[in-house]
Amino acid sequence: MKLILLGPPGAGKGTQAKRLQDRYGIVQISTGDMLRAEVAAGSEVGREAKAVMEAGQLVSDDILIRMLAARVDRPDCAKGFILDGFPRTVPQAAALDTMLASRMMELDAVVELKVDDAALTDRIAGRYTCAACGAGYHDSFQKPRVTGVCDTCGGTRFSRRADDNRETVGARLAAYHQQTAPILPHYAAQGRLQAVDGMADIDDVTAALIALLDGLVTGR
Ligand code: ADP
Ligand code: ADP
Ligand code: ZN
Repeated sequence: MKLILLGPPGAGKGTQAKRLQDRYGIVQISTGDMLRAEVAAGSEVGREAKAVMEAGQLVSDDILIRMLAARVDRPDCAKGFILDGFPRTVPQAAALDTMLASRMMELDAVVELKVDDAALTDRIAGRYTCAACGAGYHDSFQKPRVTGVCDTCGGTRFSRRADDNRETVGARLAAYHQQTAPILPHYAAQGRLQAVDGMADIDDVTAALIALLDGLVTGR
C-alpha cells in the first residue's frame, strides 16, 4: 500500500503513520525526521536545512526530491510506504508522480487530516518525543502512562524540536496554506483525495483511517 498523509503541522500525521505501519506492513517516511537526522549529523544537507527549518520555512524542492527518490528505493519500502511530510509543494507533487510512474508504482490513497488552525498551536507547543525510541507524546493530549517514562521503551529522556514553539507556528501554518494546500486539488483531480476528521481523539482518528484503508484493500 502506498499512501500520502497530508495535513498542516501538528495535524497528527506522524502519530497516525506510526500506528498504520505495523498494521499494513509498510514504512513511515517522514521527510521532517530525515532532515532532522541530517541536521544532527552535520551533513551538507543538514547545514543548509537547519536555519530554514528553525524559521518555519520549507527546505528546497531539489533537496527533498533527491532525498525521497533515494528513500523509496530502499528495500524496506517493497511492501509500501506512508509519506508523512512529503510532498509539500506543487513541484514536489509533480516530481513524485514522475518518480512513481518510472518505477511502475501507483498511490493507493492521499488522505487529508483536517484540523482547525486554532487547535494546531497547542498541539505543536505541547509535542515531545522519547529521545531513545522516538515515540511521540503531548503535555496534555498524549501523556505517558507513568510520568517521565516512555510507554514503549522505558526511556526517561525526552526531547522537543527546535521549531516547536509558538513563535514559529505562524510561519509554518502560512507555509502550509500558501505552498502545501495547493497540492490538494492536484490529487482531487486524480480522484485519489480522501479526508478524515483530524479533530477527533487520537484513537478515533486511527479507527477512521483503518476503516478507509481496509475498504481500499478489500475493494481492489
Ligand atoms: P504532525 O506529524 O502532523 O506534525 P504529530 O503526529 O506529531 O503531528 O502530532 C502533533 C502533537 O499533537 C503530538 O504531540 C501528538 O501527541 C498530538 N496529537 C496528535 N493527534 C492528536 C489528536 N487527534 N488529538 C490531540 N492531540 C493529538
Ligand atoms: P510538521 O509536520 O510538524 O510540519 P515536519 O517534521 O514534517 O513537521 O517538518 C519539519 C520541517 O522540515 C518543516 O517545517 C520544513 O522546514 C522541513 N520539511 C520537511 N519536509 C519537507 C518537504 N517535503 N519540503 C520542504 N521542507 C520540508
Ligand atoms: Zn521510548
